Amino acid sequence: MSADLHAQARTLVDRNQMSGISPAEQAWLEDHLRQCDQCNGYAELTARAIGGLGSFSFSMDPSLVARTQEALTRRAREMEAERGRHRMYLRGFALACLFTVIGSVLAWQGWAYVAQRVQLVPWEWQLGFSLFWVLPSATVAMLLLVGLALESNRIHERSLA
Ligand SMILES: [Zn+2]
Repeated sequence: MSADLHAQARTLVDRNQMSGISPAEQAWLEDHLRQCDQCNGYAELTARAIGGLGSFSFSMDPSLVARTQEALTRRAREMEAERGRHRMYLRGFALACLFTVIGSVLAWQGWAYVAQRVQLVPWEWQLGFSLFWVLPSATVAMLLLVGLALESNRIHERSLA
């Protein structure tokens, strides 16, 4: 007998337990099981396993189910809030960088003009420009980056816990 026939017989045994098979398939399977000890053994084992499952009953405490669902929902909301803060820091950092660059480019012209009028030497007005324009916005960007790093760290720690 070919291996295909045994495989087909076992597939039919499985399907018979789950969704049922046609009368023709049933007849073929019974015929095969009479001739084949291996498949017959498989069919018996399957029937016994399914029977065992049937006598197995699950009893669940409804309050436990409710508490578990509540904890899962709360955790999902917390994670959503953490992600929201993370995005806010990231956006703030990007904006601060953008303001530093665009602001510097725009302010540079005006600053150079004023510096010329008040007759500052180049290193003086370049230093002044750095201190009064670039430094504050760069500081804001750095603070946001630190906040972002701390937040990421916290999320990472929480997910490990
Ligand atoms: Zn067989």
